[in-house]
Amino acid sequence: MVSFFDLPRSIREEIYRHALVKARVFVRPFISMEYMLHPDRAKIYDNPNIALLCASHRIYHEAKPIYLGENIFSIVQVDMLAAARMENRRVAKNLRQIRRLELIFDNRDYKYMAESLGTEIPTVMTEVEDWADESSAKKVAMRDLGEMRDHFDIRQRKQLNHHLHQHKNDNKETPHDRLTENLKKYLWGRTLTFVRQTFRLTHLFIDLRHCTCPVGCCRLADQVLDWGWVYVWIHGLPDEVQVRGSSRSEKEVIARSLDRQSFHFKLKIDEVYDQSRAQDYRGLMQYNVLLRSVYRKLNENITAG
Ligand SMILES: [Zn+2]
Repeated sequence: MVSFFDLPRSIREEIYRHALVKARVFVRPFISMEYMLHPDRAKIYDNPNIALLCASHRIYHEAKPIYLGENIFSIVQVDMLAAARMENRRVAKNLRQIRRLELIFDNRDYKYMAESLGTEIPTVMTEVEDWADESSAKKVAMRDLGEMRDHFDIRQRKQLNHHLHQHKNDNKETPHDRLTENLKKYLWGRTLTFVRQTFRLTHLFIDLRHCTCPVGCCRLADQVLDWGWVYVWIHGLPDEVQVRGSSRSEKEVIARSLDRQSFHFKLKIDEVYDQSRAQDYRGLMQYNVLLRSVYRKLNENITAG
């Protein structure tokens, strides 16, 4: 009998490519609004046929490097990915094989994330509160989640809405600044920290067409690459960076930022990461441990249901 494996390896690889390499692979649960709102999304951004990877061990081993190494993965929000990486060694190993990444810095994604976090956080807090152990990790997590709940409180944001255009008149933080700070802290900064810690990329695609503050009045494209609390690319800078939707002067600032972000051993510690956020970072690790458990519980529920 003739088997699939009688085909030459190069033909098999073409078949794998056809099934698994698509215009973009979206890292769920968040997909950028840029794609969500695209009228031809389903047609252009067809899903890869992941089931192929489960067909046999041999196909898995031959096809997985193609799936991970040749696709462009589009990441918006990293929390679930960070939790999955801690939960599962295979996820960590797979992430290291990704070579092409797209980051879209789009204020619409922040609004979407804030809405969904605003509704999710109270549920997660109830989940955490129910746990028997009274560890310090639990206390830290409850404190952090409480802080996040307040930051993403929808009712509060709606009340503040008509003050949004106010600019700084004294030293008090305006709602506009609060939102911009949230965006940096919870979305773009966190994403960049994770990306710099995790990946060794050949290609990085950056989309800055909607890179503004959440209100839309300030352009942030020239600052975005400086955010995060790990400043350097631990596994090396991307070989090639393509930037879309930015002016020439923004591109120049981005190029200079990236130049400063290559890791070498002579760096001082505060050039590697933001020390004022070191405390935050330990908190984040504990928060990640916690998310891992939430992730595990959610998975159990999905499997059981
Ligand atoms: Zn603004």
